Amino acid sequence: MTTRALFIHSEKDLRVQEVAVPSLGEGEVKVRIKFGGICGSDLHYYLHGGFGTVRLREPMVLGHEVAGVIEAVGAAVKDLKVGDKIAVNPSRPCHTCEYCQKEMCNHCMNMRFYGSAMPFPHIQGAFRDILVAEATQCVVFPQTTDESIAAFAEPLSVVLHAAKQFGDLKSKDVLVTGCGPIGSLAVLVARAKGAKRIVVTDVADEPLAMAQTLGADLVINVRREMEGLLNYVKKERCFDCLFEASGNERALCDAIECLQPKARMIQIGLGGEMTLPINRIVAKELELCGTFRFHEEFSEAVQLLASGRVKVEPLLTEVLPMEKAIEAFELACDRSRAMKVQLSFAG
Ligand SMILES: [Zn+2]
Ligand SMILES: [Zn+2]
Repeated sequence: MTTRALFIHSEKDLRVQEVAVPSLGEGEVKVRIKFGGICGSDLHYYLHGGFGTVRLREPMVLGHEVAGVIEAVGAAVKDLKVGDKIAVNPSRPCHTCEYCQKEMCNHCMNMRFYGSAMPFPHIQGAFRDILVAEATQCVVFPQTTDESIAAFAEPLSVVLHAAKQFGDLKSKDVLVTGCGPIGSLAVLVARAKGAKRIVVTDVADEPLAMAQTLGADLVINVRREMEGLLNYVKKERCFDCLFEASGNERALCDAIECLQPKARMIQIGLGGEMTLPINRIVAKELELCGTFRFHEEFSEAVQLLASGRVKVEPLLTEVLPMEKAIEAFELACDRSRAMKVQLSFAG
């Protein structure tokens, strides 16, 4: 038996091709994928054939933000049944390496994260009509929740993992720099976790309008108003927390001027080399913290989406069928038109 899958062969070379469906193992389930969100990493493979030192070296199925319906369950599967709606956790740590043993599964040395060209052979992704997955990867959500909403569980998990590094966000003044899908989810998470005030900066108006829709208290276009943030903190209290989601050096350096002493900065945007005002970081006793993927946050993400405590509906720009993947990827690259674009599958 075969199924259709979306392969990338090299930059700008997407192809829908048939691939074998593996036989169902005892602890596995067969999932009819309904929707899959196009992520920044998928776009990097599409636009540049990779990122940093990670390069496509063989055709790879893209995609890791998927949700669907269970079609068959293996003999040993107890907690899932045919017809269940599930989100698939794309994080597949080995559970035996040193970091897994220390409950740092996101740093697993043998991670098999869907749609990743980091290891070779590459880890094949989840943009396909039928996916065979481990039952333990599947998180059930209510029949009343649409699969397109559940497909946000992966990027939401990334943001929940990042937010965890702040500790408690309750009553905090939060600055979010960069308002793509991750920055937007950071606004929603900060609000859901009880932040007092959320200010968002970006260099484009469309994502800032989205931030406002999502409940940001103030948005500043720092391309038009270069001093906007500094002028704001001259009048108001400085920020306790920074979600840096742009990967831009200028955004981080400007934010450092607007933070309280002892504030914590979570760098979630990837931007490569940066020059930072170390003296300011030292004198203010700031903490700069990285964040990478997630693991156990996935279940919490599904719960937040299913309960409506985090409402991602405004972020979904458009859904296009897998056959129109090129159109979908081009749309997803255009920040003036798109926030999150999803593919739909035959499921
Ligand atoms: Zn993603
Ligand atoms: Zn491991």
